[in-house]
Amino acid sequence: MPEAPKQPPRSPSSGHYHHHLSKNWRALDFIEEVTSNPGAVQARVLSEILSRNAQVEYLRRHHLDGRTDRHSFKQLLPVISYEDIHPDVSRIANGDTSPILCSHPISEFLTSSGTSGGERKLMPTIEEELDRRSLLYSLLMPVMSQFVPDLDKGKGMYFLFIKSEARTPGGLVARPVLTSYYKSNHFKNRPFDPYTNYTSPNAAILCPDSYQSMYAQLLCGLCQRTEVLRVGAVFASGFIRAIRFLENHWPLLCHDIRSGTLSSDITDPSVREAVARILRRPDPALAAFIEAECRRSWAGIITRLWPDTKYVDVIVTGTMSQYIPTLDYYSGGLPLVCTMYASSECYFGINLNPMCQPTDVAYTLIPTMAYFEFLPVNRNGSTGRVNSPLTTELVDLADVKLGQEYELVVTTYAGLYRYRVGDVLRVAGFKNKAPQFNFICRKNVALSIDSDKTDEVELHQAVGKALNHLAPFGATVAEYTSYADTATIPGHYVLFWEMVVGGSLKNGRSSPAIPPSVFEDCCLAVEESLNSVYRQGRAADKSIGPLEIRVVEPGTFDKLMDCAISYGASINQYKTPRCVKFEPLLEVLNSRVMASYFSPKCPKWAPGHRQWCNQEFK
Ligand code: AMP
Repeated sequence: MPEAPKQPPRSPSSGHYHHHLSKNWRALDFIEEVTSNPGAVQARVLSEILSRNAQVEYLRRHHLDGRTDRHSFKQLLPVISYEDIHPDVSRIANGDTSPILCSHPISEFLTSSGTSGGERKLMPTIEEELDRRSLLYSLLMPVMSQFVPDLDKGKGMYFLFIKSEARTPGGLVARPVLTSYYKSNHFKNRPFDPYTNYTSPNAAILCPDSYQSMYAQLLCGLCQRTEVLRVGAVFASGFIRAIRFLENHWPLLCHDIRSGTLSSDITDPSVREAVARILRRPDPALAAFIEAECRRSWAGIITRLWPDTKYVDVIVTGTMSQYIPTLDYYSGGLPLVCTMYASSECYFGINLNPMCQPTDVAYTLIPTMAYFEFLPVNRNGSTGRVNSPLTTELVDLADVKLGQEYELVVTTYAGLYRYRVGDVLRVAGFKNKAPQFNFICRKNVALSIDSDKTDEVELHQAVGKALNHLAPFGATVAEYTSYADTATIPGHYVLFWEMVVGGSLKNGRSSPAIPPSVFEDCCLAVEESLNSVYRQGRAADKSIGPLEIRVVEPGTFDKLMDCAISYGASINQYKTPRCVKFEPLLEVLNSRVMASYFSPKCPKWAPGHRQWCNQEFK
């Protein structure tokens, strides 16, 4: 990728333009600087975190006694997972304001999409972390504009949403990190910047009703179609959901554009007011154009409706790569751009070569965000399972080796010390002396449609619960596997079940004595047993479709094994995969489906943790 020149070019034009350019150069200079000496930056970050938190209970418990050097830190502090700090987190959630993890007051909890005991993990955060997140965001467009010129000459059509929030018993707000960011002054009252000039008004983004929010954002995007230079959402799944919404609602949207009035379904007064500023007069010509394009076909709809779009800005790394074909279909092959890698625990890094292919995306961790360590991992070639030998020394950011895979471990300003994030990364190259990482996977995730992450153990327990519904029929499941079906929008979980009826297989048929409603009950029972992020996706966000059980012919799982072995799986070590992604294996399963059943309704979900007395507030 081109190196960032050290000097801004002489600007011939206005002061505003000059200011904008110099902000760009400052961002690129910052990247140059922190990537040139990551070791020193990381040492400074660690010492800063440890010195300001010297008196916190957690560090005293581990006898750090005010030391801030790397050696003592590594010797005395254990590498931990969420379960290790769960008791500390619970105390904070219940109202203990003493400095347990961090010397700064905990401002709120960020609710991770990673779960523990079926509930979202709670990540304590502090006010100043918003500055760090904003800093990472501020680097994205200066990097992007090195590759795509004139992005400051138009708008971004981004579909951004907030999710519901809850209060912990101690009174702290608990909400996802993006909800926290969009509701912050950093976002709401951002000064005008051509790079954060979006088609969606803040009021539409901040509307808690997902239908009204989506409708208003699409309507505003359509009205400003000729100004749009880039489109996107956070994750690929969210962007595809917006296009599907357009497929389902274009007649209504066109009606509003034709008449210059907003549908009465949009009741939120601040949204109505904001949309009215954009939908100012009837525009029958625009309505007719959109209608004609929507009637024509959905292939390439993005470039037909928003003709100046240069790229689609969505995360398509990790499990989101399953959406690449759908995005290509809608966008007519526009570049798919992954710009950043972040989490509730900490924002990590950015992609310095954003126009690369999705398979080549590598994130450069920004060394000022946190102190990063790396646990070398070996993945089992055939199962993909991750083994992290904890006896191995953790490696520092400046010492990782090209080609090696590592699990990411962070120490943050907000009070996580040597915390395993659960992501596996591979070193793909270097920017100056700073490593760049491919995102390989999140450990132990079998199924994912949106931000849900379901592991094999959870799935197994959920299937186990559902089997109770079959017991009265003398039936059970001999073998099962699963699949995240993203051909439907929204995607949904599919379970393949091979049945045992009355103790033996009945020729090619499931017992007629089992009515379809029982299988439907099984679907719902699995969903009710899955974690709260899954249930929220189903019940509140509608980002996940109803779970499906496909009953397959007897003998199907033997055929599955034959197929896996023919592709190189070891006969001796073969175990039924609990999740299938490989197309030939899916074909074996799908060609033997005898019946399929869907969950008849949404599983129960309420904001906040089960054990809290919840109050939803806006
Ligand atoms: P959360 O804690 O709910 O914000 O989720 C954070 C997790 O989302 C990370 O630990 C990753 O597993 C995943 N994630 C975030 N950004 C990316 C990305 N650019 N590519 C792949 N996965 C990502």
